[in-house]
Formats: sequence, C-alpha cells, structure tokens
Amino acid sequence: MTNGDTRTLLWFRRQLRMHDQPLFECLDQDREQTIGIWIVDPREHLDDTMGFRRTGPHRMRFLLDTAESLRASLRRAGTELLIRIGEPECILPEVTRDLEIDRLCFVQEPGSEEREIERAVTSRIDARVTALAPDMLLEMDDPVSFASTLPEVFSKFRRHAEKRIDMARSRSTPSCIRGIPLPRDFDEGVPGDLAGSIIESRDGTRAAMKFRGGEIHGLERLRHWMHEGDHLRHYKETRNGLLGSEYSSKFSPWLATGALSSRRVAEETLEYEDRRIANESTYWLRFELLWREFFRLHLLKHGPALFHRTGPAGISLTYRNDPSHFESWRTGTTGIPFIDANMRELSETGFMSNRGRQVVASFLSKNLDVDWRWGARWFEHCLIDYCPAANWGNWAYAAGVGADPRGFRGFDVLKQARNYDPNGDYVAHWLPERLDGLHGMARHMPWKHGGRAPVVMPEDSLDAARTRWENAPRLDSADPPFRS
Ligand SMILES: Cc1cc2nc3c(=O)[nH]c(=O)nc-3n(C[C@H](O)[C@H](O)[C@H](O)COP(=O)(O)OP(=O)(O)OC[C@H]3O[C@@H](n4cnc5c(N)ncnc54)[C@H](O)[C@@H]3O)c2cc1C
Repeated sequence: MTNGDTRTLLWFRRQLRMHDQPLFECLDQDREQTIGIWIVDPREHLDDTMGFRRTGPHRMRFLLDTAESLRASLRRAGTELLIRIGEPECILPEVTRDLEIDRLCFVQEPGSEEREIERAVTSRIDARVTALAPDMLLEMDDPVSFASTLPEVFSKFRRHAEKRIDMARSRSTPSCIRGIPLPRDFDEGVPGDLAGSIIESRDGTRAAMKFRGGEIHGLERLRHWMHEGDHLRHYKETRNGLLGSEYSSKFSPWLATGALSSRRVAEETLEYEDRRIANESTYWLRFELLWREFFRLHLLKHGPALFHRTGPAGISLTYRNDPSHFESWRTGTTGIPFIDANMRELSETGFMSNRGRQVVASFLSKNLDVDWRWGARWFEHCLIDYCPAANWGNWAYAAGVGADPRGFRGFDVLKQARNYDPNGDYVAHWLPERLDGLHGMARHMPWKHGGRAPVVMPEDSLDAARTRWENAPRLDSADPPFRS
C-alpha cells in the first residue's frame, strides 16, 4: 500500500547506466519511491520480415548483459529493475496499475518509431508522465527545436557547436534510491529467460576483442583505452585501422546502449588533456562525438524521411535489387576480399571498423545496385553498437541520399584496400582459406591469380553507379517510409 509518497516508475530505454543518468535528475528523493523497468519490444527486436531478426544474437546478448548489470547496480542503490518482454504501450499501463504508480518518467529518443511509441504510452497510461528531452552531449534546452534548424551539412553544425555551444556536464548519481517494495510473488522478470528463448549464441574466435555489455565494462574500456593504454594520444593516426582492439576507442556499443554517456567520454578527454597532452588526436575524439550528436539531431529533424529510399536529400535513385547480389554481400561471398573480410567480421563479431563500414555500404548501394536500406537492415541485425540515428544516417550518407554536400562519392574498393590494408593482413586474417599462397596486393585481387571472378568488377560497376546517381531525379518530397 502507498504511504503518501509519490510512486515513480523509471522507464529505462537507451540510457542503461547509473552515471550521468537523466532519469535520476528528475527525482525528488525525499518524497518519491522509485522502481525501474526495461522492456524488450518484439517489434524492435524480434521482427524478421526480411528473413532475419532486427536484433541478432550479438546485440541481444550485449543488451541482456547490459540490463543485468543495471539491475545489479540499482539493487545496490536500493531499488529494482523490472524486465519485461512486450509492447511498452501495453506493459507500462499494466505495471502502473499493479504497482499503483503515480508518475512515469522516461527520456525521449530521437527515432521516429520510438517517438510513436512514446505517444502511444502517454495516451494509454493512467499516471502523470514526465517525458525528458533527448539525452544530448551539447548543452541545449530543447533539442527538438534546435534540430528543426539544423544545417544539412555537418561542418556547418560543427563550427556553430564549437563556437557557440558548451558541452554539457555529467549529472550526479545518488548514492541510494528509495525503492518501491514489491508485493510478494511479484515477477521481476529474468533476463536469463529471455536469453534462453531468443538467443542463438555464437562466439567469433577470430575477434580482436570480446565486447561485454554493461556500465562496468564500458567504464573499464574507457579507463583502459584512454588512460592505461594511452591510445588517445595517437587516435587521429590510428583510427582508420582494421585489425586489432586499440586502433579506435570501441566505445560505440556502450554509447549505443547508454551504458557509457557521451558527456562522460568528452569530459575524460578534457581531463586527459589537462594531465597528459592536448593534440589533434585528443580533439578528434570529441570531433567524432559531434558526428554522433549531429546524426541524432538529423534524425530528430527528418523523422521518417530518413528511412525513405530517397533519403533526406530526396534523390530518387532506383535499384536493380538482384537478391543474389545482396546475398553475396551479406554472406561475404562477393569474391572481393576487402568486402568479404569486413562482412565476415561483422557477422562473426557484431563489429566492423568505421573504414570497413564506409566501404561496404558504398559497395552495396553503388557497385551492387541494391537498395541501401537492405544493407542498413542487415547492419541493424548484426551490429552490437546499432543505433538508429548513426546507422541510418551513415547509410543514407554512404548511399548518396543523406547529409552530404558533395557530389557523387563512391569508394574505389581496391584503392581503399591499397591504402588501408597494403599487405593484405586484414583480409588474410578473415579469409585465410581463400588467400593461401597470395601476398600483398595480390590478396585483394585473387581473380588475377587464378581465383574466380568477383560478382561485379569494382571499377566498371562504380562508373555505372556514378551515371545513375547523376541522372536520378531530385524530388521535393520523398516517397513513403520504409517498413520491412
Ligand atoms: C554505414 C555505417 C553504419 C554505421 N552504423 C553505426 C551504428 O549503428 N552505431 C554507431 O554507433 N555507429 C555507426 N557508424 C559510425 C562508426 O562507424 C562507428 O561509430 C565506429 O566505427 C565505432 O567504433 P569506435 O567506437 O571505435 O569509434 P571511434 O572512432 O573511437 O569514435 C568514437 C565514437 O564517436 C562516434 N562516432 C564515430 N564516427 C561516427 C559516425 N560516422 N557517425 C556517428 N557516430 C560516430 C561513435 O559513438 C564512436 O564510438 C556507422 C558508420 C557507417 C559508415
């Protein structure tokens, strides 16, 4: 029974952490009792109309570990995290009734599907709703109205942000939280049960690094990579790497689940600069965090248009969509080692370098003439760091229908291979059985050394894509949003 205190339900969505937690900021600890909830929405995770689930095994395992870690932290602080599977607009009214909740508190997300769900929850719930503004790196009162005037070009946004907007400071974490006592036999929900029903677990044995979900592991990676290993010092020179665990921060899976806050990462770079060195590399990590911020605002600005074939730029490219081309790309069997090695790394580990992502995305949408959204969906399935804004924003950009001021930009795969994998070490690591006996650049062109011909020849197919892009009609309004 209630004791006069407000009973508040905290709906944890993509901020699965204790540090810098926006939900704690809105609590009145003297007058509120609290309980948390995390919901696995089948529409977001289990839907498989393209022949594969939206959330694949690597990300699901990472997410469940993250939720388990948050539950342990909340328990230590004095409260509980309920875990449920179902649609939030059904689950939340039910829990609100069962636990006599007075107030529901959540953080808004930039995604259009997420915002629709927020509206459905708000209209169905019998409790006061506090919807906090999206969690941003930069200090802004109203990200939604800021987004409405966002420049289409990143560098314009960056210059404005660097001159005029401060980075926001991390929020403080309460040492204890007054929980809502649960009725006897009330089911808290067990992530292990979900794992049993929806995970087919696989471990990539060739992976350079094992990603473990949860705030503790995210903070540990931050400490290790930046401070102990001192890798930030050379980040600008190493960040285009392909092999190994330290060439880039690998913070993305923790940032995407919110187990690590972008504010905390930015603050640590400033602290590092005070204590060790300030150089182009230390600046560059914040530069990349601004890209992340830009894509979040870009999604807020464009909403469902980001998921259109024609993208936010409204360029009406049509695609041949040969299913065998898509399959060869997805399964890493195009016959072009640089593409296949990256695609194999992605499906075995749930991770791919930024260089790899740019090249394979360009290759699918341009050389293979396949709708970029098919690729975005496959990334969504595989990536442990999947985040709607970064994934769909970068895909649209790579396909030439997104936030890019320049003209046609297609990657020459063999040039990329020469620049970033000159000895063929990366492709040999992922495709050892195919490249036996080949060395250096020969590893990137096995068809010139007795191997089978690739599904398309890289140069010819890129020229054809350029012509299609240049001739594509420019639209005033985009066609209907993509729903798989
Ligand atoms: C087609 C495509 C799809 C992508 N999908 C995703 C995705 O779903 N989720 C995701 O987090 N990133 C995505 N990225 C961006 C980028 O590739 C990854 O953030 C980066 O490779 C993660 O590795 P890292 O943490 O070591 O990055 P670092 O180089 O160490 O960068 C630090 C952080 O900056 C942010 N960042 C860096 N580059 C970008 C970028 N281009 N866009 C947005 N944020 C960036 C990330 O949060 C990253 O963790 C995508 C890029 C492409 C080209």
